[in-house]
Amino acid sequence: PYDVLVVGGGPSGSSAAIYAARKGIRTGLVAERFGGQVMDTVGIENFISVKYTEGPKLAASLEEHVKEYGVDIMPSLRAKRLEKKDLVEVELENGAVLKSKTVILSTGARWRNIGVPGEEEFKNKGVAYCPHCDGPLFEGKHVAVIGGGNSGIEAAIDLAGIVKHVTVLEFASELKADSVLQDRLYSLPNVTVIKNAQTKEITGDDTVNGITYIDRDTMEEQHVKLQGVFVQIGLVPNTDWLKDTLELTRMGEIVVDKHGATSLPGVFAAGDCTDSAYKQIIISMGSGATAALGAFDYMIRN
Ligand code: FAD
Repeated sequence: PYDVLVVGGGPSGSSAAIYAARKGIRTGLVAERFGGQVMDTVGIENFISVKYTEGPKLAASLEEHVKEYGVDIMPSLRAKRLEKKDLVEVELENGAVLKSKTVILSTGARWRNIGVPGEEEFKNKGVAYCPHCDGPLFEGKHVAVIGGGNSGIEAAIDLAGIVKHVTVLEFASELKADSVLQDRLYSLPNVTVIKNAQTKEITGDDTVNGITYIDRDTMEEQHVKLQGVFVQIGLVPNTDWLKDTLELTRMGEIVVDKHGATSLPGVFAAGDCTDSAYKQIIISMGSGATAALGAFDYMIRN
């Protein structure tokens, strides 16, 4: 068996594997797609100490660094079941069962897509999901935020300080965000809120040039000219396969303590699949290190 088995090969899993392997213990890493969300990212400007890098380049460096340590990497494999017996068992979709004294779950998350024409086509060409990451690219421009929940309104407030104008589109007749956020939003001069708006299409030529929505009051189609669209309708953790195994939040995020420990002894978690307050590369790497040290601590006590 492994001492530490990491499930997931994004920034948090890579960091966990390196921290574990550096303790001289037997470390395995199973991942569906090495690099994780980083593989879908173009420019990265907030990975501190690296002024600019690109997703595939960072993913390649992660892999190179992990390989330095003799981690047993099992790529292109998906975990489908976890069970705690004497050891922790992780069953893969191909039927294989991996056994380990401790497991670190780092399966990440994915942004929920709005699923309208133009979204896929203009990803990274005006369609964005992360205001902390991509907000500065739209300085002086007009952008839309789709979604009036807490994350959408936080994004709109954040972006309003950077861009020229923000249009918020909410499908329902009311914003769902906390009232303190709504008050803040409505106090800003460069924000327009459109409720009852069903996004129909993101338009563009080489890059985004507008958004079309249906006014659900009148059923009329409207078009707004703008250069960017931030889709903020939820971040979904990749934890479906863990339901009924360990404690998850209502949103499906794995609940962890300050050592990265989950509700199941010997099972730790890190990164975007957990209930961490913020989801960023640098934050997930930090939590990966925490989970590995937590797992090591657990091992020397048990
Ligand atoms: P992920 O990166 O999601 O990695 C999850 C890993 O788990 C993958 O290897 C995946 O294949 C694997 N996996 C999932 N389920 C299973 C399973 N059942 N079995 C086996 N393996 C599984 N952050 C920044 O800090 N700066 C940026 O500029 C930035 N830009 C972004 C742009 C885009 C388009 C996106 C989508 C995200 C961006 N982020 C950015 C966020 C950042 O990418 C994430 O916070 C970070 O990747 C989280 O790392 P993670 O390791 O927790 O999860």
